[in-house]
Amino acid sequence: MAAPLLLCALTHAWVASCPTGSSARLAGHCQYARGGVTGLLPPQIRAHRRAVEMTVALAEEDTGKPAEARLPYVLTGLPRSTYRGTAMGWLHKTRLWYLVAVLYVVIAAILGRTAAVPLSNVQLGFRVLAAMATAANVFISDRYHNADRRLHAGRAQAYSAAAETSALAFDYLGISSVLTTQLWLWSANMNWMLMLKQVGVLSGLSTALVAVLARFVVPKKMGHVMVKATMATQFTVFLGYLAWCVLSAAPTACRVGVLIFFIYAPGLFVYALKWPKHPVFGFHEWFHLSVLLGHTSSMVFDLRNIVVPCIHFCAGVN
Ligand SMILES: [Zn+2]
Repeated sequence: MAAPLLLCALTHAWVASCPTGSSARLAGHCQYARGGVTGLLPPQIRAHRRAVEMTVALAEEDTGKPAEARLPYVLTGLPRSTYRGTAMGWLHKTRLWYLVAVLYVVIAAILGRTAAVPLSNVQLGFRVLAAMATAANVFISDRYHNADRRLHAGRAQAYSAAAETSALAFDYLGISSVLTTQLWLWSANMNWMLMLKQVGVLSGLSTALVAVLARFVVPKKMGHVMVKATMATQFTVFLGYLAWCVLSAAPTACRVGVLIFFIYAPGLFVYALKWPKHPVFGFHEWFHLSVLLGHTSSMVFDLRNIVVPCIHFCAGVN
């Protein structure tokens, strides 16, 4: 019962918020809203309506509670799951993640100043970049996954193909930046052993490539494929090389840090596989959970490493 009521309420709210001068696609949605459920609807709008109905029905079936009727993603028409946007929206709205990121840098700076071998400004800079990348990750995810809620809040331009393409492009750039900044941070912690400097340059170039592809090729299929292939290389080859260096050449005390790689790994693995598909907690939710745990474990292990460095640097070096 709740689903039709929610759809009805949504439709009324939608009609009320229908803007003038909005994009053709948004105008189409508003046409759907005004037409109600019995009018003749363009196929795309019908598909969107079905996706909303399906999301609500599946979510209610799974949780046994009334669910929010959410509009699907604009570019794919895929339904929005229950927790994805809510979780990222909560982290953004409460500012919790941004606070965590700032606290991490502040604590690193305090610990770094009193450490036996103080952190240099460059070393602290790697922490700032890593923290900024994780914060950007949350900020962009909220933009991408909650565009429909912004539409309901009266921001018509938030729910459009252009806005979604832009959010997706920044999402790719954010993920690639996380991979590069984590590589830089932990390569510096490993004193840039073996070929980590060269690999760090390659990862930085990969992020630049992702930026270009995201700006000029996404949302074409080729763009998605090339971006994902680049990010897969960053993770498996570059960060994999770092993990190999730690396991094969670093002091034994450093090995525990490789856990970070294996905390990020399942999320990126299921993201690439697009499996498991589940309306409430599918691969994308596992991806976000794994990535957030990866960020957190990296911060914790890094702060520990500042206090008790697993590699003993000479003062003034690096
Ligand atoms: Zn996401």
